[in-house]
Parts: sequence; structure tokens; C-alpha cells
Amino acid sequence: MSIDLRGTEVLVVGAGIMGAGIVQVAALAGHPVKLFDMREGAAAQALEKLAATLKSLVDKGRLDAEAARAAMERMVPINSLAQARGAGLVVEAIVENLDAKRSLFRELEGLLAPAAVLATNTSSISVTAIANGLLHPQRLVGMHFFNPVPLMKLVEVVHGLQTDAAVADAIFELSKAWGKTPVHAKSTPGFIVNRIARPFYAETLALLQEQAATPQVLDACLKAAGFRMGPCELIDLIGHDTNFAVTNSVYAANFFDKRYVPSLVQAEMVAGGLFGRKSGRGFYAYGEGASAVPPLPVAVHEAPATARQVTVHGVGPIADHLEHAAVAALAPQGWGPARELASDWIGLSIDNARLVLTDGRSAQQLAHDLGTPDVAVFDRPVVHPIAPGSALAYAVAPSAHAAWRTQAGAWLAALGFTPLPLADAPALVVARTLAMLINEAADAVLQGVCDEGGADAAMKLGVNYPAGPFEWLKGWSVDGVAKVIHALDAEYRGERYRLSPWLRRRAHRA
Ligand code: NAD
Repeated sequence: MSIDLRGTEVLVVGAGIMGAGIVQVAALAGHPVKLFDMREGAAAQALEKLAATLKSLVDKGRLDAEAARAAMERMVPINSLAQARGAGLVVEAIVENLDAKRSLFRELEGLLAPAAVLATNTSSISVTAIANGLLHPQRLVGMHFFNPVPLMKLVEVVHGLQTDAAVADAIFELSKAWGKTPVHAKSTPGFIVNRIARPFYAETLALLQEQAATPQVLDACLKAAGFRMGPCELIDLIGHDTNFAVTNSVYAANFFDKRYVPSLVQAEMVAGGLFGRKSGRGFYAYGEGASAVPPLPVAVHEAPATARQVTVHGVGPIADHLEHAAVAALAPQGWGPARELASDWIGLSIDNARLVLTDGRSAQQLAHDLGTPDVAVFDRPVVHPIAPGSALAYAVAPSAHAAWRTQAGAWLAALGFTPLPLADAPALVVARTLAMLINEAADAVLQGVCDEGGADAAMKLGVNYPAGPFEWLKGWSVDGVAKVIHALDAEYRGERYRLSPWLRRRAHRA
């Protein structure tokens, strides 16, 4: 049986940042909306603020004046839940506390019609747990918005164990009618976005812990991969306290699975009150006179020394790009590179030296495997076409001769990159981070948390990723991702770099 929530009266409980945003979206979509908060006067205050927001949108020409006026008329602050008996939908956005949410919904069950849909905006509590003890647990569903609600398109429609599929479908359809992109998710720790995003922060924090690079370098590498902000900048914006709390909650909820282990680097910053923007200092310093992310200290590279032979190895778009770049770099000398399509690695041989696209192995491991000391490994460029001057991490094998240490950077610069040196950590920054994001998404799909399209949409719309994990996978390969994760596992051991069975079952297929 389908449930139609079009035009229904909506009760929003909690007049904080999320509740106010939900009221705005629901009222602009044409619903009569009542807003309740247990703090006296908070609901009326939130609506006054909302009126000012709508007015400024009208002034900027982003909202029709009549639509704003009509929406304002549809919003009513109430000071007792009993005033919302006629609501067909409740969206709860109160404090993130299981007992508070449970007792609110129990109270609402006594007030609202049995057919009313109960939705929670919880970001971390099990929807199944919130429904436990209700007379009709099947009508409770997660409706997880992202902040700021009016701007962020994603809604995770979270199914608890007892959620009726028709209730979830009704919220799915309603979200679309509210201009959002809904994605179905199973109630599991972190749902989709807060779970799959963990490695974005965790891998950078792990690299910082082993002093592989500075926050600026790591941020620059990931921004070159298309992320709007690097992990360090983003954590500073979210707040280390909040980000650390989410990591801890996902870690604990997964019975302390080492894959989600929080970072000592971040624990120390939280302990010291270095929360980021809001406290004036995190990875970067904020406040008067401080530019948020200081400029990168980029080395100036001279032209590489003349080589006798340059060969581009391997196949695929990255190898093709390297060939074009090498042709351009060598053209002034009147000659070009050779191409060796049959090689099982991608990169350049420059006389006896090797410049190799990471497959997960460290530069030192590659030097051993390729039988030459002068090896440098570079990170995976993922944005195509690769923009001139893109930041790219690289590492030189500790066995390399001194001349190759400077030549490796000089060659990458000559090929059009902004080379950023890193310690010889396996899979460097981008390859490592993307492989782990893909791995986490693969596990989420394996466990039925969401499907592949849902994971891609959620990460693009919930946290503004430039592409979804399965889209990255299409531009890479299952075997390539598996190799990176195996290399990380070989280096670090333990449970963290565990290949998802979803990927393992697809590896080595043609
Ligand atoms: P907030 O602190 O800004 O607002 C919460 C409001 O709820 C407060 O005004 C408080 O007075 C009121 N409240 C608390 N207990 C209540 C109760 N029992 N009855 C009625 N009102 C009560 O919080 P927020 O950031 O808007 O978050 C609200 C919910 O949304 C939480 O569950 C949170 O996890 C979730 N959420 C937050 C974000 C975010 O980025 N802030 C994103 C997604 C989901």
C-alpha cells in the first residue's frame, strides 16, 4: 500500500540548525509546518531568523517574493506537541541522544494518528534502536538531511529493521518533491556518507602520524584529485571535536574494528582544544592576519639533465598522457620518447632510472623489483584531462643516487606536474585514499547498506566528492585497487587494510 505525504501537515521537532533548515524546505514545498522546541521561545525565534533568511533570498533575487510570503504563512511555532495532532509527518531534529529521541516518539505516538509517519534526522543513532518500544515501529524511518539543509541535495532514507518499505518509499518520494536526491540506506553505523567518508580523513591522519608530509602537501594532492577541500582544511572546518566524535562512534559501533580506528594525531589536537576554525587553530591558524591555508612551499625545478633514452611504459590514459607530456618535454631537443606498450608498469624509463606510477609498492620495493636503485614513484592522477601544473606526490627510493633525487622532481615538473615530495609511503596520498574509499563503499554494498549508484550519489551530494567511489573504480580497475590495498596491508599489517570481499570476488576477472 503506498503512502502519499504530498501536502500533509509536517511537525518539525527541534528548532536548531537542522530543524530550521527542514522547516524552510518543507514550507517552500507547500506544506503547512509546525515547529516545536522544548526550549521556550526557541521555535518562534528560529522562525524569525528564517523570515530574515527568506527575505534576504528575495532581495538577492534567488526566491520569488510571493513564494516566500506564502511559505512564511505556512510556518507556525507551537509550544506544546498537542498542538500538532493533525500532522501526517514528524521530522525529529532534537539532540543526538537515544533516550531523548525514544521518549519523544513514544509521546508522539499517543498524540498523532496511527497512520502518521515518524522520521528521525539522526546522523549516528540506529534507526532500529529508536523504534524499539514504539507501538508501531514500522512507521519510523530515518530522513537524514545534510547541513545546510536548504543547499545540500542528499537525503539518506534510512531503513531500520522494522521500517515498513511503504513508509521508506513515501519519504523517498517526498524528498524528491522537496527538491532533494534521496538514497535508500540500511541502518548501520554511519549510514552511507559518514561511513564511506572515514578513509578520506583517516588516511591523511595516518600519513601525518608517520610524518610522510605536511597538511598543506596532503591537502594540495587531494585537491588536485578534484576534492573541493583537502582533509586537513575540511576537518578544521567541521571541527576536530565533531569529526573525532563521529570517528569514535563509527569505531565503537563496529565493535572496535581496526579499520575505523581513530587517530592519535587528532586525539591530541582535540585534547588540546585545537578544534580548527571555531577555536582559531587546528592544522592551520585562523583569525586576524592568518591566511587559512598557507601557500605551499613549491620548489623550483631546473630542466632535467639531457638523457640518452626515454621510454614511456604501459597502456591506458595515464600512460598516454605521459607520452604526450614527454613528447612536449623532449621536442626542444629535437627527439621524442619511445613507447613500450607491453610493460607491466606505467611510467618512464630515463636511461637507467625509473619514474613509476604507484601500484601500491613503495619506491624502495620497486627499486628492488625492477633491479635498479634509481626509482621514484608518483601518485595517481585521477582528473582527466590532467590540468597543467597539477600537484602530484612522489617519493624517491632511499637507495637512489643523489643525482636522481633532484632529477625525479625535475622530470615530473618537465612533464607538467607540480611535484610534491613525500616520504616513501606505499600508494602515496591519492591512490591510497581513493582505494580505501572504494574499499569502504564496496563493503557497504556487500552488506546491503546501499547499492553502487546510491553510494556514488551519496558521496557526491552529501560531501561534494568530485566523483563517486564506483565511478573512480570504473576509471581504475578492481585489480589495481586490490593491489594497492594488499600493498598497504603488507606494509602496515593488522586489520585496517583488509580487501573487501566484494572487490576480492571481482578481482582477476577479465
Ligand atoms: P542543535 O543543537 O542545533 O538543535 C537541537 C534543538 O533541539 C535545540 O534547539 C534543542 O533545544 C532542541 N531539543 C533538544 N531536546 C529536545 C526535546 N526532547 N524536545 C524538543 N526539542 C529538543 O542540533 P542540530 O545540529 O540541529 O542537530 C539535530 C539533529 O540532527 C541531531 O540528531 C543531529 O545528529 C542531526 N544532524 C545534524 C547535522 C549537523 O550538521 N548539525 C547533520 C545531520 C543530522
